[in-house]
Amino acid sequence: MSSLNVENILNALRAVRDPDLNRDIVSLNFIKDIKIEGKDVSFSIELTTPACPVKDEMKAQAENVVRQNIPEIGKLNVTMTAIVSKRSNMQAMPILTGAKNTIAVASGKGGVGKSTVAVNLAVSLARQGATVGLIDCDIYGPSIPLMFNINEKPQMHNQKLVPLEKYGVKVMSIGFLIDSTQAVIWRGPMASGAVKQFMTDVEWGELDYLVFDLPPGTGDIQLTLVQQIPITGAVIVTTPQEMSLTDARRGMAMFNKVNVPILGVIENMSYFISSNGERENIFDTGGGKKVAEQFKVPFLGEIPIYTKIRIGSDSGRPITDSEPDSEPAKIFQTISKNLAAQISINNLSKQSAPIEISLGTN
Ligand code: ADP
Repeated sequence: MSSLNVENILNALRAVRDPDLNRDIVSLNFIKDIKIEGKDVSFSIELTTPACPVKDEMKAQAENVVRQNIPEIGKLNVTMTAIVSKRSNMQAMPILTGAKNTIAVASGKGGVGKSTVAVNLAVSLARQGATVGLIDCDIYGPSIPLMFNINEKPQMHNQKLVPLEKYGVKVMSIGFLIDSTQAVIWRGPMASGAVKQFMTDVEWGELDYLVFDLPPGTGDIQLTLVQQIPITGAVIVTTPQEMSLTDARRGMAMFNKVNVPILGVIENMSYFISSNGERENIFDTGGGKKVAEQFKVPFLGEIPIYTKIRIGSDSGRPITDSEPDSEPAKIFQTISKNLAAQISINNLSKQSAPIEISLGTN
């Protein structure tokens, strides 16, 4: 009897595991649209993010196990798709309901490259097929208009502001609305009020990831913001030296205090490769990893100092868009995949809890 049937295909695929979610792709319900026509088979693997770090390996593995277990298969067509999983706090804070996931990019102090990282992660995620938005929450020093080279004002539609779109990312910043010197005199409540309006009075539509570039530091404004934004998780950007790590620890403590999960630490300006090819640890080395270990959160990656990254920010065209195949852009791609994986893990762990409980009572 032929072993070519849906059940055997699924059984074979149980051998393929998602290494981040730590479960097999069948029980994760990733396998869709299995079609058998004569000896030819096709199915899709529906991931929880298009920025999956192991997408290509998973496809190859799935093809291998199916062929090995069911040798009579003719043509085999496996398609990789993705529907981004949703954050679990949708009900708790019913704003931004079109945004499946909201990521706060934070740093304990200014100048560590937080905005540069936020921008390049947003562009990387968009380039991988996700729908992405970016809110510049730095009311006192908005840098997003410069980094995207946007000089227009957003239009109104149905009484809401329409975010400006560039490099595949929908963007909103106070810098689009007022002269950047004006907000400097604003008091805290006005500043956080403006960010709140970016969440409620902007036509974001459906987004897989909405990135919040938080103002640097861990003061009152930051605390107010992280309490009013429905955050899926926070990313801490730090440079490797002790001076910056102390502030990064304070940032992590702030998120812990308000029960916002920390998706991971990104170390920026990790080292510099000099013109004679030598690595120079200008700001020391290994600090980001150390602080991640200390707080038992993932280390998402390190970004060296590259002149091209700085030029990208200054010229208003991020390196991830202008030279996507360059070394620095690839580093951002990898980190964005690690981040997307952490978000999927986070969402799954929260979703699967009630399922496990209900199974246990049977
Ligand atoms: P923050 O948001 O933490 O204040 P920025 O993102 O504004 O920091 O970055 C500060 C400066 O450092 C900017 O001029 C930016 O272009 C530059 N920069 C950030 N990261 C890097 C990097 N990895 N390599 C080179 N320049 C960088």
